[in-house]
Amino acid sequence: MSSRFKLFTPGPCEVDPDVLAAMAGPVMRHYGPEWLSVFAETTDLAKQVFQTRNELLIMPGTGTSALDMALGSMLASGEKVIVGSNGYFGDRLIAIARAYGLEVVVFRSAWGKPLSPIELETLLDQHPDARAVAVVHHETSTSVLNPLCELAEISHRTNRAIVVDAISSLGGMDLPVDAWGIDACVVSANKCLETPPGVTLLSLSPRASSLIDAQDQPGHGWYLSVKTWRQYAADGRGWHPYPVTLPTNNIFGLRASLRKILTKGLEAHWARYRWARQAVRKGMCNIGFELLVPDEYAAPTATAVKARPEFPIASLIEWLARERSMLVGGGLGELRDKVFRVGHMGQASTRGHVLGLLFAVEEFLRLQGISVPIGASLVGAEHIQTE
Ligand SMILES: *Cc1c(COP(=O)(O)O)cnc(C)c1O
Repeated sequence: MSSRFKLFTPGPCEVDPDVLAAMAGPVMRHYGPEWLSVFAETTDLAKQVFQTRNELLIMPGTGTSALDMALGSMLASGEKVIVGSNGYFGDRLIAIARAYGLEVVVFRSAWGKPLSPIELETLLDQHPDARAVAVVHHETSTSVLNPLCELAEISHRTNRAIVVDAISSLGGMDLPVDAWGIDACVVSANKCLETPPGVTLLSLSPRASSLIDAQDQPGHGWYLSVKTWRQYAADGRGWHPYPVTLPTNNIFGLRASLRKILTKGLEAHWARYRWARQAVRKGMCNIGFELLVPDEYAAPTATAVKARPEFPIASLIEWLARERSMLVGGGLGELRDKVFRVGHMGQASTRGHVLGLLFAVEEFLRLQGISVPIGASLVGAEHIQTE
């Protein structure tokens, strides 16, 4: 009963059948000892993938809801936050901060270029009253990986907390939350954790907690206030430590996926993503495409490929869907019609999917009258090093 389509979209991603099977059991009550042990194990596994000993919340919702929660719970209206943007999701981070009435100082890089740690350093000096910094790690609209370790280090020099949208990076690459000191780290279950949508995860460091504790308001709301979740965790200990009903079947899926990732080993999991990135980058270049982002700051979790003059990008995207049941992502915002994006998340990073997609793109080129020898996109794929 698999889906008709192979998903190469950088979210949602195609999920392993074993994970889907783990979700198909009867609905369990989201409280009581039986559930609590499932939840405790899932939390423990997630902390291993986050490489953290911090508090970690697992909640119903999408990644964006946890970004709302982090910014809304750590900062009060009128407080200042420095937000980096170099793409669609950076702009969303600015919109979220503004929606909470925060005073937003923006630092930007062009779409396709990484954020500059030097610029952040200057802004932190110019705005001593800024309480926190917020950035996207992997800007999924361009496939740029921002220099998160440096951005965090600079923020911490003056004891500013860093809130990170790691929705499309954590799980697919090494992001050691504690070693890098990521204060609030937001991840969605549906990207590199390879689970269907519906669950989001948020880790909070002691520095993030001190900002939350300092708020005299409980946050800008109730459901998305960290204080509400903490209150229930304390009052409902051993029986019902959540303010709302949990998506229990989704959490069974998350547990199954995390078990799978950790059984194979984090390093092996990340290596599969790196292999997929290299295979797609090399394969597309072999057949005449250009990539939006140079190797130096290309994320291992998605790749943006530039449109070319011989045909509109939409015709390739439509042909892949109609003729080969393969879905790739289009361009977002200012990159609409200028790129297509290939996700390496979930099944999209398996050998069969990657080589199948490259071959299908080749076929499309030949139909456009572009001369491409059969198999050209696959040349070199077997020699890719992932170290
Ligand atoms: C997918 C994505 C989002 C949105 O996540 P939702 O789970 O749909 O809320 C936000 N930021 C980045 C970087 C993403 O890749």
